[in-house]
Amino acid sequence: AGAGTDEAAESRILVFVRLRPMSRKEKEAGSRSCVKIVNRKEVSLTEFSSENDYLRLKRVRDSQFCFDSVFPDSTTQAEVYSTSTADLVEGVLQGRNGTVFCYGATGAGKTYTMLGTMENPGVMVLAIHDLFSKVTQRNHSIKLSYLEIYNETVRDLLSPGSPLNLREDKQGTIAAGLTQRSVYSTDEVMELLQKGNKNRTTEPTRVNETSSRSHAVLQVAVEYRSLDGVNLKVGKLSLIDLAGSERALATDQRTQRSIEGANINRSLLALSSCINALVEGKKHIPYRNSKLTQLLKDSLGGSCNTVMIANISPSHLSFGETQNTLHWADRAK
Ligand code: ADP
Ligand code: MG
Repeated sequence: AGAGTDEAAESRILVFVRLRPMSRKEKEAGSRSCVKIVNRKEVSLTEFSSENDYLRLKRVRDSQFCFDSVFPDSTTQAEVYSTSTADLVEGVLQGRNGTVFCYGATGAGKTYTMLGTMENPGVMVLAIHDLFSKVTQRNHSIKLSYLEIYNETVRDLLSPGSPLNLREDKQGTIAAGLTQRSVYSTDEVMELLQKGNKNRTTEPTRVNETSSRSHAVLQVAVEYRSLDGVNLKVGKLSLIDLAGSERALATDQRTQRSIEGANINRSLLALSSCINALVEGKKHIPYRNSKLTQLLKDSLGGSCNTVMIANISPSHLSFGETQNTLHWADRAK
């Protein structure tokens, strides 16, 4: 293939869907599964109507969606990582920036996919583990930064303090004063990220719960000298646990909420606009419209690799959110 063809293929966004298992709470609430995985790439969604009779749900309609891959609820963290993100880690080692987003409603499994647990570490930890195993020479450095964007305010999750300003320089956009932590082993990474996650802003009304409105952005900067010691390669991997999508598209008709939503989800809306502009091949990409897109200016589109993982619940009680998520993900292709 010629250079032109390569370039076109490079700017495509890969879109994956991950279905999580039914939770105990959902089972106890009498959930029926409304998501069916048709094959490796296709998922169908069934709308039920309850018509006052909670126990006798009537099937209203099915709709079908096609993605690069659909992960059933039995998919392991390692499988999600190797299918969605391993190639981006390779790219970063060639000096090409990459970005992975988790998109979906609150409770759909974004943080589980990105951060995971001690027993089942997620994409963030597995990516860094993979980087360590691939960069065996002494001549490299891996530096992490972890920040949140909450209500269009940028905060350092590794050393919380006052809000940070975004500044543009030749390397791209940087958050002034953001902690850059050198890491040397995978062991310290999970601990670092879990600590960072505890610093995410909590909803005033729901203490102890991380905010569904906060975006968590992990950036991994890799500097790597080729074996002959001549070429210095620099690549950046951005892994993003997005805010809950439930209010993003003003699906909530209650006025109060949509005003609030317009403010709080500016970054999510701007991300949608940028992704749509990118997949439509537009010349102008509106990066400047939010903190998130400003920050990712050098990591979205062009020759960067971009991956979207849409997280969904199987329960028919989340039908509306799941439908919104699948439609949104469908437009990102
Ligand atoms: P979100 O970050 O989108 O709000 P979470 O990642 O916190 O959602 O997931 C909600 C709950 O579901 C958590 O208790 C989480 O551990 C669980 N969960 C999510 N995805 C999975 C999965 N694939 N397998 C097992 N448990 C999951
Ligand atoms: Mg979360």
